[in-house]
Amino acid sequence: MDEGTGHHRITLFAELLLPVPIPRLYTYRVPFEMNDRVMKGQRAIVQFGDRKIITGVIMNLHEQPPKGHEAKYLLELLDELPVVTDVQVKLYEWIRDYYMCTLGEVLNAGLPSGLKLGSESRVQLHPAFDLEESTQPFSDKELILLKNLEHDSLDYSGVSKLLGVRHPYSILKSLVAKEAVILYEEIREKYKPRTEARVRLAATHTSHEALESLFETLSSKPKQEEILLRYLQSVSVLADPESNHHGMSKKLLLEPDLSESSLNTLVKHGVLELFHTIVSRFGDTPADSGYVVQLSEAQQVATHNIVEQFQTKPALLFHGVTGSGKTEIYIHLIKQALEGGSQVLYLLPEIALTTQIVQRLKKVFGISMGVYHSRFSDNERVEIWRGVLNGTLKFIIGVRSSIFLPFDNLGLVIVDEEHDASYKQQEPAPRYNARDVALVLGQLHFAKVILGSATPSLESFFQAKQGKYGYIALSQRYGEAQMPQIVLADMHEARIKKTINGEFSQVLLRHIAEALDRKEQVIVFQNRRGYSPMVNCEDCGWVPKCINCAVSLTYHQYRHAMICHYCGYRETLPEKCPSCSSTRLKTVGYGTEKLEEELALKFPDAIVQRMDLDTTRNKTAYELIIDRFEKGETNILVGTQMVTKGLDFDSVSLVGIFNADRMIHFPDFRSYERAFQLITQVSGRAGRRSTPGKVVIQTSSVEHPLLQMVLHHDEAAFYGSQLEDRRAHGYPPFSRLIEITIKHSDKSVCRNAAQELFDRIKQSVTTVRVMGPGEPMIARVRNQYLMNILIKIPRSGVPLDELKNHLQQIISIVSQSKTYKNLRIIPDVDPV
Ligand SMILES: [Zn+2]
Ligand SMILES: [Zn+2]
Repeated sequence: MDEGTGHHRITLFAELLLPVPIPRLYTYRVPFEMNDRVMKGQRAIVQFGDRKIITGVIMNLHEQPPKGHEAKYLLELLDELPVVTDVQVKLYEWIRDYYMCTLGEVLNAGLPSGLKLGSESRVQLHPAFDLEESTQPFSDKELILLKNLEHDSLDYSGVSKLLGVRHPYSILKSLVAKEAVILYEEIREKYKPRTEARVRLAATHTSHEALESLFETLSSKPKQEEILLRYLQSVSVLADPESNHHGMSKKLLLEPDLSESSLNTLVKHGVLELFHTIVSRFGDTPADSGYVVQLSEAQQVATHNIVEQFQTKPALLFHGVTGSGKTEIYIHLIKQALEGGSQVLYLLPEIALTTQIVQRLKKVFGISMGVYHSRFSDNERVEIWRGVLNGTLKFIIGVRSSIFLPFDNLGLVIVDEEHDASYKQQEPAPRYNARDVALVLGQLHFAKVILGSATPSLESFFQAKQGKYGYIALSQRYGEAQMPQIVLADMHEARIKKTINGEFSQVLLRHIAEALDRKEQVIVFQNRRGYSPMVNCEDCGWVPKCINCAVSLTYHQYRHAMICHYCGYRETLPEKCPSCSSTRLKTVGYGTEKLEEELALKFPDAIVQRMDLDTTRNKTAYELIIDRFEKGETNILVGTQMVTKGLDFDSVSLVGIFNADRMIHFPDFRSYERAFQLITQVSGRAGRRSTPGKVVIQTSSVEHPLLQMVLHHDEAAFYGSQLEDRRAHGYPPFSRLIEITIKHSDKSVCRNAAQELFDRIKQSVTTVRVMGPGEPMIARVRNQYLMNILIKIPRSGVPLDELKNHLQQIISIVSQSKTYKNLRIIPDVDPV
């Protein structure tokens, strides 16, 4: 509103983007009193439908009233300044167009729910808030609410009822601003940050004179004097008054031998103050200014190459073997970018984002680094969002959704482990791949992008070979470390010769025993969780299946149940076969649970620990398992692909791959690539630093070309042969894919709709190959029947935007057809 205040009475309309899956903006009228404050990019609360209150983002302001209906008023502006930047809007629009979804869906994925106040929000007291201690003024209504929140959290309508106010958003907004309450969505875990009791010197005692007289008073109270002395030794109150404001941890001050009651007396007399702060899960360590990145010669050469290639290419693939020390190079480049004044984003797959790497980076970058993790609460995510917006956080390390943060000046984007499938969001829309979005984000900011991996995706590898990306290879491990030695354990032969022990080969057992004897650690990888993937009647062959999905149930011994991994349905294991009443029901195959049990039996002196989805549901469990293993308290770690990702242990000398066959023979055009990546990544955990490593792979197909390439560390052969295969069959990177899934609770409706969709696409789009319609491998999930159509698009010559628009039209014709009620059609662009 730069025209000034003279134009107060202009009637303004705001076009709002709402987090709903409807492809349009909504027009609301701006109340006159907001004319001076309203801005593009701010959040506003509006009524949507009859009763619902939701938060949207203002995309446009103008003076044209909507046609045909009266616009509702904006209820409240939530921000003084925009929280969504222009660059972000451009990125949102790109995602909408490329991934065939709505802008509302993008907003929903992008904006942390803590920024989306609405009828679904819940309110709780801010964990660091104490009404007694607070010096803020509160209105009567605010006080009533705060008192009530001391017992329990409330939802929006609860607040409304309690206060007798129809729309309590302005009260909530004011309390959020005073840091008295926080908002969250119920589906998420309630925010329970760790708080720490801290102590500081009361402001009246911080001068030289005041301190002197204080010591005189305390001279007859040695215990209190000692506490004060220790505080002054730890915190330089006089030299650095700011540090007194942060104080020190109460626990640390009293440890090991000072008296708490003396401390309390000092607090009571107003000498010391006690207060609480929220402790970051990674500690609020300031940067260690003495930290120097020591690059080896190979690393220096690689760094130099990266900088040089960035002169001509905005993006490059950094192909460095496991253990080659990519992180040091990243640190070096991040430092440079930050010193040049730009922001940096470092993306990691979900599970690799552990304390290991974060703590390492914290040491270098201190509090200017923010961590954006999906396991964090809404409130923590909002803090990161605001930190990026107000410039206190220049460097973000985060999972895929951090591409949505409000950057305005990115200089460097790193996508580490770029091959990882968890960069792709599967459900719900937008089904984006953060690696690919990161490349677009880089373009929008004119930033440099590094895609890093020890096992690049074929897509990225191909782009690099074509010269579209730069390419840097680092094929030496850091320091003395050697590549691990690979041993193939022939399970086929072992079965014939009857040397097999359960599903263990003698080779694997012997190597484990030897490693344990040498006090070295072992990782055993099996990509199936649960006890056994199947239960089977030995007499009639009956197999228990999920009642909602077309899959067999996995037996989980620990939870005494057979569980569906697709929908969570569970049953207890029956005592007799429901089909023939036989009692000879047996579990078939090894999941991680059974593997853990058997290893503990075979190596009774070893401590065995399991790491999979089931043992890491709790927030801290994952870190605890890693921590115990790091400290050497665990001898054998059994796990799913979680153990393959980004972990760095010093004394692991052996990695066992329990069953390589299932990975290799999985019916998908990417299965070789996946298997190669998984095997190479998990092998990379063996023998880093000084210990030479060994990898034992159990397989019935020792002659399989893929395993032969793994055996000889022949990456070139792998990438060469795979690219040839993909070219021959017209799969990515030689084509683009769009997979369309049709879902319906009735099998024939699902089939008919899929057929109609297929026919319509086939008739009107001739530039692409349309395949299907066919059943996916799991043809029913959660009582919905599924059909797939696959579209193969040539890499050049087909205008993508046009094609996608056209597909969208066909999809909406079929999905809105009266013949098929409740039909869902889901396009997935670049499925993985
Ligand atoms: Zn039976
Ligand atoms: Zn199921």
